Amino acid sequence: MTRNYPQIIVAKFGGTSVADFDAMSRSATIVLADKAVRLVVLSASAGVTNLLVELSGGLESSVRQDKIDTLRTLQYNIISRLKQPEAIGQEIERLIDNISHLAAMAVDSRSAALCDELVSHGEMMSSLLFVEVLREREVETQWFDARKVIRTDDTFGCAAPEIHTIAELAEKRLRPRIDQALVVTQGFIGSDAAGQTTTLGRGGSDYTASLLAEALQAARVDIWTDVAGIYTTDPRIVPQAKRIDTLSFAEASEMAVCGAKVLHPATLLPAVRKNIPVFVGSSAQPRAGGTLVCRDTQEPPRYRALALRRQQTLLKLTCVNGQPAHRFLAEIFAILSRHDVALDLVTISESSIALILNATGSTSGQAETMTTALLTELSSYSHVEIETGLALVSLIGNALAQAPAMCKEVFADLDTHAVRMICHGASSHALCFLLPAECAESAMKTLHRNLLE
Ligand code: ASP
Ligand code: MG
Repeated sequence: MTRNYPQIIVAKFGGTSVADFDAMSRSATIVLADKAVRLVVLSASAGVTNLLVELSGGLESSVRQDKIDTLRTLQYNIISRLKQPEAIGQEIERLIDNISHLAAMAVDSRSAALCDELVSHGEMMSSLLFVEVLREREVETQWFDARKVIRTDDTFGCAAPEIHTIAELAEKRLRPRIDQALVVTQGFIGSDAAGQTTTLGRGGSDYTASLLAEALQAARVDIWTDVAGIYTTDPRIVPQAKRIDTLSFAEASEMAVCGAKVLHPATLLPAVRKNIPVFVGSSAQPRAGGTLVCRDTQEPPRYRALALRRQQTLLKLTCVNGQPAHRFLAEIFAILSRHDVALDLVTISESSIALILNATGSTSGQAETMTTALLTELSSYSHVEIETGLALVSLIGNALAQAPAMCKEVFADLDTHAVRMICHGASSHALCFLLPAECAESAMKTLHRNLLE
């Protein structure tokens, strides 16, 4: 039997949108402006996760104390503006005690599990404080521990969500609360089957919002951040960048993977599975509009956006023992798979393969893709060359593979740049190429002027 649920919107607020009391107040106004918003997902206040990650590295006592003092000041700046600060002040103080305790433990035994436990306190504090801000507006609000629903595997720092379990748990534990009140929960954090705290990787709150939207069959996910939507490129690189009003899921996913720092790269997976539109807007300027990411966009232009990923490393492997290419490639891919390396872009020729490995956004920041063990094993099958100091420029658009003059249009004005690798054809939404890092920004400016202005 299918039940007809009221249409709900999941609203997620990023770190800058809950950075201080004023930001929280603006975000509360946004939540209350639309009755369909029934579930709020929050990041930690800006700067807090970074401090907690540093603390999880095992700091010397006086440095540790400085960081904890900074954290406390950030929280008290919010608490002191509340009308009834006492009870919540005590609760936050308990969490800060916990943080101190865990940060001291990290000195002797650093681990990804401990790091996740520690950083989860950032979202705990912001969500508890936001509940108070909403209650001051006399709104029936419930705080909810996301770990009761966001079940993941135990890959600490970059855990994978278990979609079916999340759907079941959300129906059982979260839906009844949403029927009663406005619910505020944490992004980014989850728990494994043994009940240990996990995280979805840096920036993972967007992903939480779309996972919960999927589980609850929400009508829309609103991602409130510090920019009024998704732009044709990073305005810090190209000031002429323009906001894109609507974008398809495929284009937006491609942008996220290619380095546009607007959405966590996995955010759109649940939205695509359940066809849930995702809106991106600025909580500081809610009236400035934003970008709607959805399945169908009208009249897609061929070229939509440019993205840049810095600090790329190119790995070039050449077969040394004269094996036929198919066997050589099979060996190489098997090694990469054994080392659980996320492959990103690949080009292949007769006896060589060039690839870029994708550094995961693990919470602890410890994930090193090119480990010595990996390189040693690769060297036993191939001659390995490593080239650093590169940047990946990606042109995103629709039906790029069918665009007859594309290569001329893209590369004509880039003749002064030494292109190190080009990937095109596998995705019809992106053309990516590697350049020396120092040419990347000027290439972005040229391409934006020629193709997007
Ligand atoms: N607080 C976490 C981070 O800074 C998650 C998020 O903001 O999405 O990475
Ligand atoms: Mg974010």
